[in-house]
Amino acid sequence: MRNFLIAGNWKMNCGPQETSDLLQGIKNSDVKIPDSIDVLVCPPMISLTTASAELEDQEDISLGAQNVYSEDNGSYTGEVSTQMLNEVGCTYVILGHSERREYFGETDKTVNAKAKKAVSDNLRPVICVGESLKQRKADEHELVVRKQVEAAILDIDADDAMDLVIAYEPIWAIGTGESATPEQAQEMHKMIREVLADVYSQDKAGQIQVLYGGSMKPHNAEELLSQPDVDGGLIGGASLKADSFTAIIEIAD
Ligand code: PGA
Repeated sequence: MRNFLIAGNWKMNCGPQETSDLLQGIKNSDVKIPDSIDVLVCPPMISLTTASAELEDQEDISLGAQNVYSEDNGSYTGEVSTQMLNEVGCTYVILGHSERREYFGETDKTVNAKAKKAVSDNLRPVICVGESLKQRKADEHELVVRKQVEAAILDIDADDAMDLVIAYEPIWAIGTGESATPEQAQEMHKMIREVLADVYSQDKAGQIQVLYGGSMKPHNAEELLSQPDVDGGLIGGASLKADSFTAIIEIAD
């Protein structure tokens, strides 16, 4: 009922030349992307135009950005608008990644403003949520993540709910090599789906993709992706090599 979404979050890696090389590596691999799997790559802003040109003949790979601003245009030095992302062929945007929350002052409120703007301008937001190690140890993870989800989707209509993607990314698992266990992931994904059901409906919640992120690699992708409420991955490190990214796509199949 839900497609898998296998998404690469390239973070601050790959300028235009490396973007071109990596996408060619993915395109030239033998991996066949079935209709049941959505594949997304999110290079840095500066490389989106190059990526868009590389993906022109590749309808089964979507393009996304890693951030966007919530205003249309104007005096916002350093920012990029939804229309600009549309213009270069983006159909997704990652929002509220824990690195943006930690280093760039992103809050639940700014994530919500950006998510509202994104859905109104035909960009599917991939909204990242997740607890710190301290919060998990204090047994606050469910509460923290529930609040993040509720805040991020505040005032987003049920009509737009289908455009949402939620990525559960425990901060302690990002870039550490230590992923959540499949049981931990399933427990949190199920809870996130319950929040979505409370806000929208059971039916809508059943259609929204909830991704897992945090050290997803070819060796652990199968057990994570086999959980009933895990609908794909937001992949950092392992998305930077064509062979490991395509291996995860194959595992999802
Ligand atoms: P990682 O990053 O796969 O390198 O842990 C995931 C993410 O931060 O989205």
